[in-house]
Amino acid sequence: MRVLMIAPPGAGKGTQGELIAAHFGIPHIATGELLRDHVARRTGLGLAVQGYLDRGEFVPDQIVLDMVREALIAAKAGGGGYVLDGIPRNIEQARAAYEIGLELGMTADVALHLDADDAEVTRRLLARAALEHRSDDTAEVIAQRLALYHQVTSPIICWYRDRGILVSVDAMRPAQQVGREILADLDAMAARPAPVPAPERDLAELATLADAFGVARPAS
Ligand code: AMP
Repeated sequence: MRVLMIAPPGAGKGTQGELIAAHFGIPHIATGELLRDHVARRTGLGLAVQGYLDRGEFVPDQIVLDMVREALIAAKAGGGGYVLDGIPRNIEQARAAYEIGLELGMTADVALHLDADDAEVTRRLLARAALEHRSDDTAEVIAQRLALYHQVTSPIICWYRDRGILVSVDAMRPAQQVGREILADLDAMAARPAPVPAPERDLAELATLADAFGVARPAS
């Protein structure tokens, strides 16, 4: 099973990503976790990205894509399944993730969208702030992360819907209930034949989507 997750901050990507990984015995690749780990270890990469995380901005695409490529190569050696949590965040990353998937023969089977409204995710993130002290769980930075999600990330969802791999779940409910529904939906997706990738058509449609949202057309 190969899953990528798209959700606003605080919708439960981390929790549900872990659950899916355990259920299917596949690695959970969380870009935010990988980046925070670099920051905590004060690696060169960590020092370079810390400001982006603290401000709630996106880290430059190439940094994230290099990390993801490396993690997917490791996932391929481990059987080929994965849960990608936190990427894609924009149309360029969606395109690159699809191209890396094509190159490795492991494009996503499912794009899982966790749907939750701003008031609920803000409440959850502020509650988490009291426990975890993440630098980006302040009211101001949460607002910035949500604005980016609505402007740049959520427009990608319709591309996955058109490709027939979107599963959208109401994530406003308690985590256990959401998790049960996700696993039932993913088990059903796993049982059906995977759609055959049509890279030229898919990439052309993604470019059209980028135009529609006024995003610069990705270089081909
Ligand atoms: P998350 O743990 O998914 O909420 O991500 C925390 C932070 O890591 C984000 O606010 C970004 O600064 C950074 N980040 C995580 N994933 C990406 C990505 N795919 N592209 C750019 N920045 C990312």
